[in-house]
Amino acid sequence: MDDDRKSTSRSLKVSDYSATELNEFTRRFASAAAHYRRWMRRWWIGWVVIFVVVLPIGLFAFSAHPEYGMLPLFAAILVQAVSVLWYPKPMCPACDEKLELNFGSYCPQCGQLGFDPSIPSCPTCGKLDRLKSGRCYKIHYCSSCGIPVDVKGF
Ligand SMILES: [Zn+2]
Ligand SMILES: [Zn+2]
Repeated sequence: MDDDRKSTSRSLKVSDYSATELNEFTRRFASAAAHYRRWMRRWWIGWVVIFVVVLPIGLFAFSAHPEYGMLPLFAAILVQAVSVLWYPKPMCPACDEKLELNFGSYCPQCGQLGFDPSIPSCPTCGKLDRLKSGRCYKIHYCSSCGIPVDVKGF
């Protein structure tokens, strides 16, 4: 029964939902979007702290104690590297697809139908270059089912 429902909801698209249902999806996704933004903020603050605080202290300590002066820097970089394990993987509240990884026929940025993941930019907004190597656009819509997930984008 659950499988049936899941396969049905997977095949539903944005036009199959009412405005109330779409609002409910956005509301449900808000905490995941906030979590994602928080995680990214911490990640960048981590690098700033490493370069602005830990690295200069490390260099200073290294000149006095070359044998262990760099240890704090290595430790800080290790913490950053390990924290990638907790990198958030936001999922679509309607179809359960991973929003950052799975691409369908809707543009994740402008939500227009007709998006082709094999072409490196969206025919409507034209903004999705570098689709595969790192992300230079914000996700506002689910690419698989087309529902709006986050007004602000993440
Ligand atoms: Zn687009
Ligand atoms: Zn979806």
